[in-house]
Amino acid sequence: MSDIRMRPKFVRLATQPLSTVAERWKRQYYETADMIWKRYQCSIGSSSKEIYDKLVALGDNPTWQDINAIIGNLSWTHVSCDGCSEYVLVAVSIGEYDSKNKYCPTCVAEAAALLAQHKDGEQ
Ligand SMILES: [Zn+2]
Repeated sequence: MSDIRMRPKFVRLATQPLSTVAERWKRQYYETADMIWKRYQCSIGSSSKEIYDKLVALGDNPTWQDINAIIGNLSWTHVSCDGCSEYVLVAVSIGEYDSKNKYCPTCVAEAAALLAQHKDGEQ
């Protein structure tokens, strides 16, 4: 029997996996039961099916820049920070595994600085 006690990982990386964007796009915009593509409104003017085909054509290791050029926004490749609403490539999630809260490096750095300034409890 091991004496090692693992601390649960309360702080984890939060990213949007680029290799699954096409698959996630299809899951969101393709109605399997009716075999139809849902309408997608965007400034680029492509239908959801056209965007899916372009995402698939990027191959297995697309860059976020190529994906964003097709979709027209950062929401499929970046994480939205719950502290400041900025889109970042990498954030951290703090809390239980099902926690949806994500924080960007800037917010985490500001939080750490604030905690360091008040580590003795003074306010
Ligand atoms: Zn932030």
